[in-house]
Amino acid sequence: MTYEEYMERIRSAGDFSDLFVLGFSLLSEPIYCSHVGSYEGKQAIVQCAIHAREYITSLLGVELARYAASTLKSGGAYFVYDVDPDGVRLVLDGASYITCDVQRGFLISANGGDSDFSLYKANANAVDLNTNFDAKWGGGAENRRCPSSESFIGYYPMSEREVNILADFTEAIRPEVTISYHTKGEVIYYGFEGQNDPSLARDEKTAALLAAVTGYTPILTRNSTGGYKDWCIEKYDIPSFTIEVGSPALPHPLDEGVLPEIFEQNKEVLSALLS
Ligand SMILES: [Zn+2]
Repeated sequence: MTYEEYMERIRSAGDFSDLFVLGFSLLSEPIYCSHVGSYEGKQAIVQCAIHAREYITSLLGVELARYAASTLKSGGAYFVYDVDPDGVRLVLDGASYITCDVQRGFLISANGGDSDFSLYKANANAVDLNTNFDAKWGGGAENRRCPSSESFIGYYPMSEREVNILADFTEAIRPEVTISYHTKGEVIYYGFEGQNDPSLARDEKTAALLAAVTGYTPILTRNSTGGYKDWCIEKYDIPSFTIEVGSPALPHPLDEGVLPEIFEQNKEVLSALLS
């Protein structure tokens, strides 16, 4: 799949929902969002592909939005289909599309000198966007302090354009729940360091509900830092969950052939959360 074919799939969400551009990435790619269901009642934000190589979650997002558009009985959801479009373009097309030698050279260097970007997770600054949020930023055991294909936290919290776009949108909507789609493992992460009852008990209950719907295993995380889920919990006490789709045995990036299976596992997530 080329990046252009991938973006075509995302834009097809405009056939069944209100599609708009939330903002533009560092290298000026559009970050698309669409709303399904009602604007009344509980609202969710579902964000996908904040890690570039996990771009199958964008395709999953389109299918989940399509399904929700015809089945949601109450509430609504905003799907942010691709938080890291520059990273996804690198994964799908490689760095050769970048005409600026300096930018291309920087990215290949950050990628360990390798021009194969199929396992790349970061953005065009080689920052791992899901470590850049202001939630115990820099406290993770695997955090890196240097541009890299993964785990570089940035030079300061919220330094990245794409992170601010998602954070500003979340502040504007103040959703009742957020879902972050990642690959892989068939697990649901909930909780954050310092989160206590009744907030933690509330999220534990919802994680159990999501586990029942998906068949995935709920896992309490206490040591995750700088992630979108972490930030939503710490800053606004929004019930927030990371869902890792795809069998742990599958190699990255997940092949599109797995899409029907992960769709079946996740299609009732939103109606369970919003009813
Ligand atoms: Zn991820």
